[in-house]
This record gives sequence, structure tokens and C-alpha cells, in this order.
Amino acid sequence: MARPPSPSSCPLAGKKIVVAGAGIAGLAFAISLQHFWNEDLGSYPEITLYEREEKEPGRGREGYSLSIRGDSRSGGVQALQKMGVLEKLLDVSITGRGGERGSFGFWDPNWKRIVEIRLEKPRDLPASGMRIARWQLRRVLTESVAAHTEIVWGVACLEVLPSSDTKIRVRLSDGKEEDCDFLVAADGASSKLRASVRPADILHFAGAVSIGASSRFPGAPPVPVNEDWGMVFNRTGTALFVSPVDDRSALWNLSYIADSPRDPQRQPLSPEQTAQILQEAKERGKSFKEPFQTLVDNTDVSTLNIFNANDKQPFPHGKQNGVPNGIVFIGDSNHAVSPFAGNGANMALMDAFDLAECLCGQPSIEQAVNVYDKRSMPRCSATVKMSHFTIGLVHSTGLRGLFYRAMLGLAGVILSVLSWRKRR
Ligand SMILES: Cc1cc2nc3c(=O)[nH]c(=O)nc-3n(C[C@H](O)[C@H](O)[C@H](O)COP(=O)(O)OP(=O)(O)OC[C@H]3O[C@@H](n4cnc5c(N)ncnc54)[C@H](O)[C@@H]3O)c2cc1C
Repeated sequence: MARPPSPSSCPLAGKKIVVAGAGIAGLAFAISLQHFWNEDLGSYPEITLYEREEKEPGRGREGYSLSIRGDSRSGGVQALQKMGVLEKLLDVSITGRGGERGSFGFWDPNWKRIVEIRLEKPRDLPASGMRIARWQLRRVLTESVAAHTEIVWGVACLEVLPSSDTKIRVRLSDGKEEDCDFLVAADGASSKLRASVRPADILHFAGAVSIGASSRFPGAPPVPVNEDWGMVFNRTGTALFVSPVDDRSALWNLSYIADSPRDPQRQPLSPEQTAQILQEAKERGKSFKEPFQTLVDNTDVSTLNIFNANDKQPFPHGKQNGVPNGIVFIGDSNHAVSPFAGNGANMALMDAFDLAECLCGQPSIEQAVNVYDKRSMPRCSATVKMSHFTIGLVHSTGLRGLFYRAMLGLAGVILSVLSWRKRR
């Protein structure tokens, strides 16, 4: 396995690290540090992950699936491979061991593929990407965290408290306070720790509202959502994203453009609220043909919600940016993106891996964080920009819609010709 250049000892050797959040970024950081550590770096740090959720990952609320990709913009597959967990994840993914089952693309209103995108498999990887249920990703990551790393479930990190210059003090939801030498904030898009050190750095509405859920079936989900995922492009201003989640369930997400954000509707919802939201989904989505109605009719109501597409630009670390030394924000806590980016989990994985590599390869924490910021910031800004373009594209109407439809059609033709020539 490739190791970073090792200084004689690491600035984190023997130190106490707190990670806020055992989500994708937090767990991946713990695994990446395990991967990079070697005896030359000194004694392994004491690491505690605090996770707000009571239970270890299970189907429940995490009823959606994610695309993890291996292209140069995403790099999630490469990060997982270097962490040593890729094979286990491919085994439980929707797309299978070689990533060959199903593909991403755009459908026309009759569910005919306009364009199908199958990424080229990079030479050193078993798959170019995978589609995987989020709970499966978290389960495998949780199981891959070494036994000597503690995960405390059901305890949230609430704020960073003033403390000495050398220690960081965190207030916890169980009433205690925890001192540490290094704090990794991986507590998601609505990060409480970000609010405590950069209160003005809030989420911004990206212009679309989504109604979404996963649907459960007694057998396989309806074709084509049993295998393929992507957008139905119908130029009405309402977009539909669908994807398999596992062999019995599929995700649907109906979105529309709005001038201002809407009050989110989250679980637990009353039977009346549930009925109203499902009715609204059917009404707004009446231009979508089957299997859309079947998906809505088979909704697992415990996963139904209405949410706004929110995001924010990344920020660099250090006192000059309002972040006390020794605290690093990774994943959505730093640069939340909406699902339209399709890249937030990839960035969370890359952040985690890069931060661990920098911490093990640089002589001081400040230098490590500087190098880390230079790697993370550009890809995050590019993803936020790209996601705004995607929101415009999938909700386009009129002439603009016609233009994008023609471009997608052209892309579809070019990709089919290229894939035909490769098969010959
Ligand atoms: C419907 C949908 C589809 C998506 N599709 C894709 C996709 O296809 N590809 C992709 O790359 N990305 C996708 N994303 C985005 C991706 O899920 C996120 O970007 C990713 O989960 C971010 O990882 P994270 O670890 O930073 O945050 P999270 O995964 O949100 O993890 C944060 C963790 O911290 C915990 N927590 C929160 N507050 C606290 C606290 N105060 N103290 C302690 N713990 C706390 C949370 O419970 C959670 O476990 C999608 C998102 C959605 C909603």
C-alpha cells in the first residue's frame, strides 16, 4: 500500500482526537488514519467519534442510494480502494462486484433513454463506480473502524467552548465536556460546530424543492427502476429522479423550481400530512408516466419528506478564517451540496482520506491543514457550480428545455457510437 512520506513522528502521535459525526466523512477519516499510520509515526492517537443518532446504521431513515464514482472529479471509488473497503462495498452494492449492473442516464417522458452514461473503468480499479444504499455504505464503514477507536452513539457535539490555546473543548449533548488536541467536525450540512465557530456561514437555497421517498415492493421494483437510475427529462419545470435502493426498493424524488425555500416536512409525519404530501406528489408529477404512480403508491411512508436543495461554498481553515487552530471541517459540514450535485458523498470520502494523509505526512498540524485546504477547496467549489447548472438543466422549459433536450440527444448518439466502436 502507498504510504505518504513519513516524518520521524506525526504531530498527532499520542494525542486525543474527537470526531463529531459518524457519517460518511467521520467514519472514512477514522479508517483512513488507520490506513496511513505506521510505527514510525509514534503511538496511535486516542480517537472518539460522537454520533448524534442512537443506533448503528440500518435501513430506517437512510432509505436512499448514492452514486460513488471513480472519475477524476469524484474519486470516491479510489478513496475507498485505498482505505481497503472497496471490495466489501462492491459486494453489497446495487451495481455488483464489477459495477456492471445498471447505469445512470436521462429518460424521455416515455422512459426511453435519451443518453446512458457508463464511465470508463480506470485501469487500477475493479469498477468505474457503484450505486449503493446509503445504509450499506455506512454499515460497512462502521464495521471497518478499528476496535481501538471508540464510537459513542446517541451523543451529539453541540459547540466549541473557549479553552486554553493548546486544547479544544467540546460541549456534548449528555451534559459533559470533552477536551481534545484535534477536532474533526464531520457533523453534516447543518453542522452545529460550524454554527458555533462561523455563525454567519449558513446554507443557501439553491432554487429547487424536492418531495422524495423510497418505495417498497413485494418483489423487484418496476422496470427500469429495478436496475437503472437517473432523471426523467420532460421540459415541464418538474424533474423526476429515480434509482434502485436494493432488490425490493427504489427511490423517487420529484423536484420543482421555487423562488424561496419551503418549510421542510420531516418524519414523524401524521397520516394526514403523509396523505397530503403523496397527493401533492401525484398532482405535481401528473405529467410523468408509469411507473411513477406505482412508485408513489408503494411509498414507504416512514421515508417520505419534503426538503429544499441547499448548499454553501467551502471555506479554508485557520484563525484568519474564524476557525481555531486544531479544528477541521470535512464533508457536508464544510461544503454542503444538494443531491443535484450527486457528489457530496464522494467529496466526504476524499476529504477524509486527504486529511488523514496530510496529517500523517506533514511536520505540523497547521502545515497539514494548509495542504489539505489546497486539495479540498477547488473540487468543492467546482461541485457547487456544477450542481447549480444541473438544477437549471433538469428543470428547464421552453426554448432552453428544447436546447438541452437536443444536447442530451446528441450526447446520447455520440456515446452510443463510441461504445459500439469499443465493442467491435
Ligand atoms: C437524496 C440524496 C441523494 C444523494 N445522492 C448522492 C449521490 O448520488 N452521490 C453523492 O456523492 N452524494 C449524494 N448525496 C449527498 C451525500 O449524501 C452527502 O453529501 C454525504 O452524506 C455527506 O457526508 P457527511 O459525512 O459530510 O455528512 P452526513 O452523511 O450527513 O453525516 C453526518 C453525520 O453526523 C451526525 N451528526 C449530525 N449532527 C451531529 C452533531 N451535532 N454531533 C454528532 N453527530 C452529528 C449525523 O447523524 C450523521 O451521521 C445525496 C444526498 C441526498 C439527501
